[in-house]
Amino acid sequence: MTLKDLLVNSSDNSLSGVKWHTLKQSIVKCLLSIGDATIAELSAELQSSIPTITKAVNELLADGFIMDMGKVANNGGRRPSLYSIAPSSAFFLGIEMGRSSMAIGLQNLKNEFVSLDLQVPFLLENTHESLLKFCAIINKFIDDSPADKSKIVGTCINLSGRINSMEGYSYNYFFNENRPLTEIVAEQIGLPVFLENDTRAMAFGEYMEGVVENEENVLFLNYSWGVGIGIVTNGRLYYGKSGYSGEFGHSSIFDNEILCHCGKIGCLETEVSGWALISQFKKALADGKKSLVELEEASPMVQHHSIISGALVQEDSLCIELITQQSEVIGRYLSVLLNIFNPDLLIIGGDFAKLGDFVLLPIQAALRKHSLGLVNRDMKLKRSVLGNKAGVIGACQIVKEKMLSSLE
Ligand SMILES: [Zn+2]
Repeated sequence: MTLKDLLVNSSDNSLSGVKWHTLKQSIVKCLLSIGDATIAELSAELQSSIPTITKAVNELLADGFIMDMGKVANNGGRRPSLYSIAPSSAFFLGIEMGRSSMAIGLQNLKNEFVSLDLQVPFLLENTHESLLKFCAIINKFIDDSPADKSKIVGTCINLSGRINSMEGYSYNYFFNENRPLTEIVAEQIGLPVFLENDTRAMAFGEYMEGVVENEENVLFLNYSWGVGIGIVTNGRLYYGKSGYSGEFGHSSIFDNEILCHCGKIGCLETEVSGWALISQFKKALADGKKSLVELEEASPMVQHHSIISGALVQEDSLCIELITQQSEVIGRYLSVLLNIFNPDLLIIGGDFAKLGDFVLLPIQAALRKHSLGLVNRDMKLKRSVLGNKAGVIGACQIVKEKMLSSLE
């Protein structure tokens, strides 16, 4: 039996069989949520007798779901054993689908990566062939990983744009397939599949394993090729009615007659984003400004990274100037969100977060200038610590969270 099997309903339908199964599920859940514990602690937490807990723990040990970590010190008397969840009794697969590459990672129950590749070449196209190729990459990754596939609980796939997580559809990619994307991928890879918006997954990654300490109301800005926000309120991801919350970049703000890829004119992204930065850089050169960075015929995504690296590595004045200007503008519109949400913490993440103070200082100055003083004083501003791993970590954690919530 695998941990996955233990977490589904008991096959023994007798009252005692169901009770016994539920007790073992509760012990696993307890060890996952409060960490390592002794028999006495489990007995107190689950309000079950010491002999009953001991018997259940022995069965879980025999199945390899938990480990005996050795004796702990106490104030005299017999020293009790400490039990811990066995890290390799279940795994969670996280996938981030980018435009020209994908990131994929497999975490164990202790949130450790047993396999991780942040740069798998993959060209995202809206075709059935592209989708099959994507599934083939996942299957190869699973085959090459050290984990037994039967122990992988499921996978979460992060995509940019409008995602309906509940129904399993992406409205930007593979929408013409007549079936939910989750269903097609599940059929190809033989695992349960969840779909998530990329920014929301990054926010959850930071919340579970990143820069978030005790804060329960968090805004996460994904400042990259596009611009979106992830929202955590009272410790839970906020989705909105259908999962389309956080589309900050498509707020129609400017009278600039620039067409956004969403079809609207004057969105925030038309002046603040990786793709806007490329146009601004090219226009500045055409106006006679000088730069060390040469974009040549590279793909738009490479151009976007070249300008960021121009500021960061080459300290190129034009790149720094344009990024500072964008950061001031985004800070001004983030101040609107602060006034509305009054968060404990605002995290700056995404490709631009690599620039550190080049981005954080103008954002902070704009927040001070434009948001209400009371709201601004309440809030901490931090940079993402997970960087380009935030999305994959978030995806793994979303699968883990779904497993745990199925036990509630
Ligand atoms: Zn737009």
